[in-house]
Amino acid sequence: MDSPAKAYRPGDRFSIDAVRRALAGLDVVDDAASRERAGRDYYWYSPVLNRQLAGRNPHLVVRPRSLEEVVAVAAACAQHRVPLTVRGGGTGNYGQCVPLFGGVSLDVTALDRVLDIDSGRALVEAGALLHSVDQAARAQGGQLRMWPSTARIATVGGFIAGGHSGIGSMRHGILADPGNVLSLQVVTVERVPRVLELRGDEIRLAHHAYGTNGIITQVELALTPAIEWHHTIALFDHYDDVLRFGLAAGALAVQANPVLDLFQLSAVERRITPYYAGLRDRLEDRDAMFAQMTQASLAGYDALARQFGGRVVESGTEAELLARGLPSCTECAYNHTTLEALKSDPGVTYLQVAYPGPLDPALVARQMARFGDEVLMHHEFSRSAGELVAFALPLVIYFDELQLRSLMASFEADGCWIFDPHTWVLEDGGMKQVDEAQLAFKREADPLGLMNPGKVRAWDERVLGIPGGQLSASSQKT
Ligand code: FAD
Repeated sequence: MDSPAKAYRPGDRFSIDAVRRALAGLDVVDDAASRERAGRDYYWYSPVLNRQLAGRNPHLVVRPRSLEEVVAVAAACAQHRVPLTVRGGGTGNYGQCVPLFGGVSLDVTALDRVLDIDSGRALVEAGALLHSVDQAARAQGGQLRMWPSTARIATVGGFIAGGHSGIGSMRHGILADPGNVLSLQVVTVERVPRVLELRGDEIRLAHHAYGTNGIITQVELALTPAIEWHHTIALFDHYDDVLRFGLAAGALAVQANPVLDLFQLSAVERRITPYYAGLRDRLEDRDAMFAQMTQASLAGYDALARQFGGRVVESGTEAELLARGLPSCTECAYNHTTLEALKSDPGVTYLQVAYPGPLDPALVARQMARFGDEVLMHHEFSRSAGELVAFALPLVIYFDELQLRSLMASFEADGCWIFDPHTWVLEDGGMKQVDEAQLAFKREADPLGLMNPGKVRAWDERVLGIPGGQLSASSQKT
């Protein structure tokens, strides 16, 4: 095994030509447009990251077509001590696949084969698009358990390495919940790369590690029997009522014998919904719950909404909603809210806030009163470890970074946790602590610290001895 004693440090010189020569015969490009494309993801949601990450491009982009080619890229990068950053669909929000120090961008999108599938599980290559896998599963009578609202352009490997949960998490929990991801195939970055298989608890070693401890080449996902989901929009007089209804509906969905079979439950207040194309003039001036459910749950869901002063105003399959000029509920949820707002209002950004359970609507009401016009509320209900949870992705009318930091402090003073979307550092985003198991796995799978360097603070501090871990990348633009 290569020794961490020789780990890559920002500023170390490397020969990109040596790697290029080693990869002769592979699909390698280094034109400016390809490099610039590989130097971006959706970090521009954050004005902070937009300023810090612009222009950080790889020196070249490699698009392997087989496991053997992935191994060749890993070996060449290790041999020549060149940084290697994996890229899927490039839809991450925190510059996750942006190479801070140049090197090779390994684009996995040509590894997109469905290898084996039945109605209960799918074995796919990591570059397969989530939507394509869902379509393949549906042909067998199954479907994905969850997906991000970017499913049409995001890869399975990117979701595992960079994502958390999504549409479907109301029913199946978060990605990290046992049984959702069944196995991963991971290639180590060493002079003689190894191909490892992770199963069960081991999956968390590479899940949400931002591609810093191994290249995921295959993923085995659990499926669930296919359902044609009914999308609904319910309107309420007060956001308070939407949240109280969400808690009641969610509780009926997570109980042992669910009365409601809900796939998505997304509360969005009235100042946000006008940003959605197709809804601008159709939702009156009221607060909304966007949801997906089985057809059999529809009547009970509407009856419950009425108990909270609301009612379902639109419902139908996704195709029916689209035919009526309405958006899919998938695209009114999770981080699509920020995307829709940014389309017409470049002065908007967002936060990610987890609440102590159970969610207290009175606390949210106090926060809305305190933040006034600065913060517009949006909450996702979800299941995590079998429990109903709720977290917010509020829009922020952005003024400056100081404002963001003081809003975060204010949420934290309420007992909330911030999953900071304005940092590229893994630990500073959600965890706020070192994941010792992931770090130990990095020593094994990436002993030279070549994978996505600058993203893991604990590596920088403990292995490289850089206090604070924030690498000064300013002189490293390529
Ligand atoms: P990329 O952005 O390409 O990569 C993400 C990270 O994974 C990077 O660190 C990259 O280096 C690493 N990586 C990629 N492929 C591999 C691999 N094969 N091996 C090792 N590392 C790899 N996320 C959610 O979790 N839930 C949501 O509901 C959600 N909604 C979103 C909505 C919008 C509008 C946007 C812009 C983003 C949203 N996201 C969401 C974030 C993102 O879209 C998803 O996490 C998505 O699954 C990432 O997949 P990707 O292929 O684009 O990954």
